Amino acid sequence: MAIIIKTPKEIEILREGGKRLATVLYKVRDIVKPGISTWELDEYAEKLIKDTGDYPAFLNYKPEGADFAYPASLCISVNNEVVHGIPKKEKILQEGDIVSLDLGLRHHGLFTDMAITVPVGEVSNSSLKLMKITEEALQTGIDAARGGNRIGDIGSAIENFVRRHKYGIVEVLSGHGVGKEIHEDPYIPNFGKANTGAKLVPGMVIAIEPMLNNGTKNVILDKDGYTFRTADSKRSAHFEHTILITEGEPEILTKI
Ligand code: MG
Repeated sequence: MAIIIKTPKEIEILREGGKRLATVLYKVRDIVKPGISTWELDEYAEKLIKDTGDYPAFLNYKPEGADFAYPASLCISVNNEVVHGIPKKEKILQEGDIVSLDLGLRHHGLFTDMAITVPVGEVSNSSLKLMKITEEALQTGIDAARGGNRIGDIGSAIENFVRRHKYGIVEVLSGHGVGKEIHEDPYIPNFGKANTGAKLVPGMVIAIEPMLNNGTKNVILDKDGYTFRTADSKRSAHFEHTILITEGEPEILTKI
């Protein structure tokens, strides 16, 4: 599949969709607290999206090779879970947890994708730092995503930034093109060599999503076929934005 360049009309739709997605995700963040189940967070996200006539992109999405379609709207990954945790009624958030909320939205047929990791009540300083550095790693990747640069410049910038900290960068999962589908070409790894890979061209829309572990970069896929966890059970954080490549600074589409 080739990289798809979006038209000005499509970009308008993606801009509106991204704004709606960010609005929903921040509303979900605001109800995160000790005692709430991940199932309740998912129900809330789904309701907010459907209330405005849009559709949750992950609901019933079946990735290649999966045994069953993803059964929820929101991916909720707690502590040592990296991504794609499935919401459950019996999974109750506890004071001190950190929780990654990853959500996709389809607005007028086009997709945007976003993730944040948030604290549940009071959390340890090491967890706060992990979340802060992961969010900064995302911004570092975004800063490198200028028109005329290459895909490898994004991963290289993230890798160089993270190197100062003793975090594992997850390598088996990556960012991606997004828009017509929830996952499009190209892959956007969170590591790599500067000045390599496809050129970033104005009109490209990509999701950048570093996943940093407070330990090994290695992850394990659960028996459920979706949830990835750290191999050493240490915590992981995840931040993601959908951005538009322009001639200069990229534009973050998943913002209010
Ligand atoms: Mg994504």
